[in-house]
Amino acid sequence: MSRFSVQKQQVLDACLTLADRGYLAGIGGNLALRLDADHFAVTPSAADYYAMKAEDICVLRLADLEKIEGELKPSVESGLHAAMLRFHRSAGASVHTHQPLASAVALIRRDILLPAGDKLGGKVALIPYAPSGTGLLVRALAKRLKPDLFAYLLRNHGVICGAASLEAAVAAVSRIEQAAARLLESLIDRQPSLPSPLAALIGAALQPEKTL
Ligand SMILES: [Zn+2]
Repeated sequence: MSRFSVQKQQVLDACLTLADRGYLAGIGGNLALRLDADHFAVTPSAADYYAMKAEDICVLRLADLEKIEGELKPSVESGLHAAMLRFHRSAGASVHTHQPLASAVALIRRDILLPAGDKLGGKVALIPYAPSGTGLLVRALAKRLKPDLFAYLLRNHGVICGAASLEAAVAAVSRIEQAAARLLESLIDRQPSLPSPLAALIGAALQPEKTL
């Protein structure tokens, strides 16, 4: 029995919440939780969240990504999460999503502006493209991390954000999606020929009951 069993279950629960909301796009996306000063939990690579068990969650050493617990291969984006958790000492959790609307913005190379006072900072800042799961992507993020920005848009890919807790990270993902919806809506106003499925997604994200 792992001494981190409770935290592993919390990671799994948060994954299921995000997957239910469509933010992980199948097996895409992954999640990390700081366990203590030296360790973090992270989801396994290419995991089907609906088949995952809490004991499948890996425990890695923050300093060098050495695996301490877990039978499965840790997420290929473990390095991204470690960079976030090392830089933002106040972040207890880090989440990487392929959420549809923010990922659409990542294709058109824009920052996503956030409402004044958002805990994530003023924007979701665009990071130049580097392939998924590579040291290049980790370095591209690491050198652009800012003390007052907790969310970043990975070009042509998705989002990574840090938050105080898993609950805060899940809520942050929804706020980012709403902000992306507002941005895309403003662009669609000028380009009425954009496809209607995208407009439908934007409309759904802007529903008041989605507000968190
Ligand atoms: Zn990804």
